[in-house]
Amino acid sequence: MKSYDLLNWATPLRVCTRETPTPKGTEVLLKLTHCGVCHTDVHVREGHYDLGDGKKLTFADRGYTLPITPGHEPVGEVAAVGDAVRDIGVGQRYLVNPWIGCGNCVRCEAGDDNLCMHMSAVGFGRWGGFSTHLLIRHPKYLVNIDGIPPDKAAPLSCSGLTTYSAIKKLSPLDPDDWVAVIGCGGLGTMAIAVLRGLGHKNIIACDLDDRKLESARASGALETCNLGQKGPEELTLIAGGPLYAMLDFVGSPATLALAIPTLRKGGRFVVCGLLGGTANIPIPLIAVREIAIQGSIVGNTRDLVALVDLVKQGRIKLPEVERRSFAMVDQSLDDLAAGRIVGRVVVEIDGRE
Ligand SMILES: [Zn+2]
Ligand SMILES: [Zn+2]
Repeated sequence: MKSYDLLNWATPLRVCTRETPTPKGTEVLLKLTHCGVCHTDVHVREGHYDLGDGKKLTFADRGYTLPITPGHEPVGEVAAVGDAVRDIGVGQRYLVNPWIGCGNCVRCEAGDDNLCMHMSAVGFGRWGGFSTHLLIRHPKYLVNIDGIPPDKAAPLSCSGLTTYSAIKKLSPLDPDDWVAVIGCGGLGTMAIAVLRGLGHKNIIACDLDDRKLESARASGALETCNLGQKGPEELTLIAGGPLYAMLDFVGSPATLALAIPTLRKGGRFVVCGLLGGTANIPIPLIAVREIAIQGSIVGNTRDLVALVDLVKQGRIKLPEVERRSFAMVDQSLDDLAAGRIVGRVVVEIDGRE
């Protein structure tokens, strides 16, 4: 098998070859055909998140070791299964839920691997999807995507699941409520598509880049706001008053600061973005307005299955993806880091590798 591996933090990925594993017990070996490229892969390659004030949250301090194969949006066909696997046939195509917990704690037993304190996700703590083959611990992490183009299905396991799970945290969401989506890259446009799929229309897409706002409108945003040109008052003007919710896919001091001037009483601010920094927001107004500020990242297999079902029902118009060759993985991370990518890149892993 061949993979693109990170051998040292903050260095380019290198082509590596290893012996293809043989699945045992409940394991399933996939021959991968596609893997999405996510901004988190850029953070993995860099080896840290920026916490602001010169502080860093490093992957090494969090216990991650190298080498690893990044890539956490894999789609593949079953190549072989362990002797304890039933109902999974060789050649069937699956999307992988990469958020795999310890398997032993209360959260894992409830199916909430994403909340496991010892989660070891595909592409972070275990071998990832920038690879021709991937061994998965148990078939419960495989999601049937029949009828969905595999390149478009790949980002569902990270950007799709992250946005679906964040949107669930806005529940109950009234049809008249206004939701601002901050940051209209891969996650933001996916969030807009999912909100529309769930029947919600009052969406304001916010970004600094007019090209991204155009793609957000194509994904279903009713209104757009370039926050480089307009202040937060523009949002309340569009909505005719304070907004119910913001989904922040940037995660910076500037975006957190939008919560207080724009949200109504009982408003919800859900942060998914990991750009970094330290926020300085007036605490009394959080209490007085009962504003909820909540983090959200990825989700569980139930949510991924529910999201995939919405796609199968034709209720979610999946954003277009840019397909690139497997050899362009590292270049794609450079392009993402430099902000040169609109939407989502998915690498195609063909049988010649
Ligand atoms: Zn991701
Ligand atoms: Zn666990």
